[in-house]
Amino acid sequence: MRYEKLAKVYEELSKTTKRLEKIDILSKFLEDIGKEDSDIMYLLEGRIYPAYDERKIGISNQIAIKAISKATGTDSKKVLLKWKKVGDIGEVAKELTQTKKQTTLASNIPTTKKVIDNLRKLPELVGKGTIDKKLSLITELLTSTSPIESLYLIRTLIGDLRIGVQESTIKYSILKAFFKNNKDYEINLQRAIDRSNDLKEVFEYARTRKIEELDKINLEVGKPIKAMLAQKAKSVEDAFTHLGKPLAAEYKYDGFRLLIHKKGDKVHLFTRSLENVTNQFPEVIDYIKKFIRGESFILDSEAVGYDKKTKKYTDFQKISQRIKRKYDIEKLSEKLPVEVNVFDVLFYNGKSELEKPLRERRKLIDKIVKSHPYKLITSKFIESSDKKEIENFYKMALKDNQEGIMLKNLEAPYKPGRRVGNMLKLKPEENELDLVITGGEWGTGKRSGWISSFILSCKKGNNYLEIGKVGTGIGEKENEENKVTFDELTKLMNPLITEEKGKNVTVKPKIVVTIHYQDIQKSPTYESGWALRFPRITALRPDKPLSEIADLEEIEKDFLEQRKKNYKYG
Ligand code: AMP
Repeated sequence: MRYEKLAKVYEELSKTTKRLEKIDILSKFLEDIGKEDSDIMYLLEGRIYPAYDERKIGISNQIAIKAISKATGTDSKKVLLKWKKVGDIGEVAKELTQTKKQTTLASNIPTTKKVIDNLRKLPELVGKGTIDKKLSLITELLTSTSPIESLYLIRTLIGDLRIGVQESTIKYSILKAFFKNNKDYEINLQRAIDRSNDLKEVFEYARTRKIEELDKINLEVGKPIKAMLAQKAKSVEDAFTHLGKPLAAEYKYDGFRLLIHKKGDKVHLFTRSLENVTNQFPEVIDYIKKFIRGESFILDSEAVGYDKKTKKYTDFQKISQRIKRKYDIEKLSEKLPVEVNVFDVLFYNGKSELEKPLRERRKLIDKIVKSHPYKLITSKFIESSDKKEIENFYKMALKDNQEGIMLKNLEAPYKPGRRVGNMLKLKPEENELDLVITGGEWGTGKRSGWISSFILSCKKGNNYLEIGKVGTGIGEKENEENKVTFDELTKLMNPLITEEKGKNVTVKPKIVVTIHYQDIQKSPTYESGWALRFPRITALRPDKPLSEIADLEEIEKDFLEQRKKNYKYG
């Protein structure tokens, strides 16, 4: 298919904010995609591989500018200036393509296949001369793209497609295109998406228009799936209302989510953002092989750090460095040991367990996991209909340095990637939000050379809205009381800077942080309309994807609840 056709669909999609219209446009387009072009399913989400694949396009604005400059014969300084004025590098590409003289030969008309082929070569390039090679792959495309194609090609490259299409939009479009919008089939379709985490695969089965074909898709060990997400409970009483009685209560461990895959002798470990961390946790692989029975399985767990001497659990911040570590891994695992707390099973010996009720999944876990404290255990769990008993369990969790408890519906299935309300978290009423850093200000005096104040944003749809500034809670020296440091943040932010004005910088939204704050106020200062009072950064969250930061609705809800005045006990 010509890339132009896809670009026009992008354009149509971006022109409407109405979901039904988007589904209409997309479902018609899906019918036109032949099997040989099914990679387009990735392009529709701005990807080149399935959601679970770690290979990302990863082109910086700087490289995009150079490519535009080369392809359109415009001085790169001029491109940069234009970008500062227009604010969208895709638009700059569009404009400059429009003005350059047309030299395209008929044989050079770009196809979606050619685009994806070139883009897929980008993450493979390493070592000397990488930048030049990347540039020539991009300019090869850009010299033959039309203005509108250039716009979307550049946006795809920098990972900011802006067409307002989510996975669910694509799901409903598939339903409409191939199953006459039969809502009875939505379950089958969602199940296929959950199990494969690969829209191209789902599309290929769906286009046969036979629902039985979709049912053939199963989970695969080694292919990461999205973890089920939690909502908040206000109290045990509130949890009973939502989950029924009896319910399951478990410790909410203050660590990071770890999805464990094993088949034969091979183990893979993934975080909740589907990052492969197998190499970072050699001791965990050992525990899995020794203490869990089964030929193949996928388990859900939380890895939590503890102090070797005191055997006390530590907070997430302390062990977070293990996730990204590439060297001295054995040494670090000695220094910062983790205990794995298994709380769910998604797949066992060739069969999906997703659809089974938690009650049965938990039974299976108890059967196959042999607990070894401070190595690998099943999560602390009670089944109860008694408010007092659960409240005592909650107090015990807090005493054990954990965040609180999780309350779960015993009859519910496992729903990957969704916050469906079968799993609630109960934590002490301390205000906390996960937000993303979108800017900052260079420091002065003893903080010069560092970015020393940080702009925080929440999300609204695909946009990020500022909600406050923070300069406290950050350490000056490395490892100061386990705080995040200015140096650490500055290093992370530097490559993400997209604009500098005086001391102020704007950065690409990428760095997710946990913020604790006193309360929320309405505010005209920030574009979100809200401001946080006394915010402090309490942790970097490399494990959390951008899709999981707080959205405007959550903030409004927190504000209303704060007004009702906090539910407190324990
Ligand atoms: P939050 O990150 O505050 O939305 O809380 C949900 C997270 O708590 C999950 O993603 C897990 O990483 C973590 N967690 C800790 N203990 C448990 C547990 N027993 N069951 C489920 N999730 C848990």
